[in-house]
Amino acid sequence: MKPITAYVHFPWCLQKCPYCDFVSYAKPRESIDHRRYAEAVLEELARRAPELRQRELRSVFFGGGTPSLWEPVQLGRVLDAIQQTAASVAPHLEVTVECNPSSLDEERARELLEAGVNRLSVGVQGLDNERLDFLGRLHQADGGLTAVRAALRAGVPRVSGDLIYGVASGDTTRPREQGPEEAANEALTLARTGVGHVSAYSLTIEAGTRFGELSRRGRLPLAADDGVADSFLAVEAALTQAGFLHYEVSNYARPGEEARHNVGYWTGIDYLGLGCGAVGTVSRPDGSALRYRNAKNPERYMHAAHAGEPTTEEEETLDPETRLRERIMLGLRLRDGVDLEEAATALGVHAWPAARQRTADRLSREGRLEIRNGRLTIPSRSWLLADGIAASLF
Ligand code: SF4
Repeated sequence: MKPITAYVHFPWCLQKCPYCDFVSYAKPRESIDHRRYAEAVLEELARRAPELRQRELRSVFFGGGTPSLWEPVQLGRVLDAIQQTAASVAPHLEVTVECNPSSLDEERARELLEAGVNRLSVGVQGLDNERLDFLGRLHQADGGLTAVRAALRAGVPRVSGDLIYGVASGDTTRPREQGPEEAANEALTLARTGVGHVSAYSLTIEAGTRFGELSRRGRLPLAADDGVADSFLAVEAALTQAGFLHYEVSNYARPGEEARHNVGYWTGIDYLGLGCGAVGTVSRPDGSALRYRNAKNPERYMHAAHAGEPTTEEEETLDPETRLRERIMLGLRLRDGVDLEEAATALGVHAWPAARQRTADRLSREGRLEIRNGRLTIPSRSWLLADGIAASLF
């Protein structure tokens, strides 16, 4: 039976972070209509049920926004309905909720456990007050670790922490750049709490965000590329020494603790997207796939769902060649790389057109790509260049 995963988006946060380009809107907790939103997602699920009925459900991920703000009872209703709709549910189904430290304490972690959640991903982001303030986060330096410890104390079996490195805070006249040593120390401090997984991302400045606008006007302090690369290597060294496997460019796990849901994205498993702004990708028998995005406006999304109308705002068909390029792009971010020949066969396309073969041979001679039995991998020393290497293989 073909596998599928489910992603549920919760679109509200207590405050909008200046670097964030996710579908998220600031809203006070008390003015969120938790039940109405859950019922909208349930309506949408009923419409999309045929996509789940023939499939084995591999994982469920509640992302956002800040889904730890959602009343766990309502989140649990959605989770139960997803499981009941799938033809079968994988053993040890991974169910993750993204959490912000400002909306996660021991009691909330227990409620989420009772709702069927077994993995929490906590947005720690940093352990320095000035930097957290610059990033617009609501918690203080000890808030992230306190939330992680609360989750572990509550007995959540798998806990992950997110960190952002490569941040220059302050202003353009007196930037204060986070150095590699600081980035590594923060990763190590987080690892020592007992988390099984750490995601470490460099800060990216996206157009359309407040940071994007400041940067356009030359008013945002930016970390130097070399410093960011040094931080990447310092974090890698610290976490590797602490027993974590660097299994994806931005992700580290203790053995067996890899984020199975995210590995699903990187290895091309279909995903059903539910909720305001959610994206889904569902393959078709001819090797193409439908990619859709739901309405980004929460009111419009809920209105459509409750009226029994489609919640989709955009959709496109991905042809098999496009899907293969996406598999290369995402798969090459993994330590295990991508089995190009297997992926191409499954999609019914040719793995090695002449131009790709020539590029792969050159990259291989340069030591930036390894090719073994049809599987492509990028040696970890070249991971910082992964996106460019992947793009050259298109
Ligand atoms: S908490 Fe996360 S989703 Fe919400 S605004 Fe900040 S970065 Fe975006």
